Amino acid sequence: MIAPEKIESEAKKKQRENLAFRSFLKFNADEDTLDEQFQKLHKELFADHDCSNCRNCCKMYQGSIPKDDLERDAEYMGLSKEQFIEKYLVKSTMGSGYETKNVPCDFMDQDGNCRLGDCKPDSCKTFPYTDQPERLGSLHSVLPWMFSQLTASGELLG
Ligand code: SF4
Repeated sequence: MIAPEKIESEAKKKQRENLAFRSFLKFNADEDTLDEQFQKLHKELFADHDCSNCRNCCKMYQGSIPKDDLERDAEYMGLSKEQFIEKYLVKSTMGSGYETKNVPCDFMDQDGNCRLGDCKPDSCKTFPYTDQPERLGSLHSVLPWMFSQLTASGELLG
């Protein structure tokens, strides 16, 4: 298992290989078979891996709070909806929800736990989505981003 602090640098080394593999899957994979394989690998990986030891997702991204969660989250934090928004959130540039003002996410405690507890957004509860259905569609959506990253870094020219 790769140490959490090394994941970013190791992923960069394999970026080109990953892009080629994702492109291969896009044109060759059977969606149901791919989901089954993801499920199997997810179970193996997370059988002895505790996500709370890493929290890289909370450190690297803003938390994304759906509009429908606002009342519940505000109450959980002992605030009015308006206070909650004012203190922690900005309107998301995509969709109708909100995101935290800062990176790391404003709801991450010093010990790495989420201050929203069970009220944390569904997108955080299911991250990194490796046991969720329709993995092929997810791989498709990340391809343009990977192309742009590699093009910007000049890696596709080599
Ligand atoms: S809301 Fe909680 S689980 Fe989600 S990114 Fe922020 S700290 Fe992490």
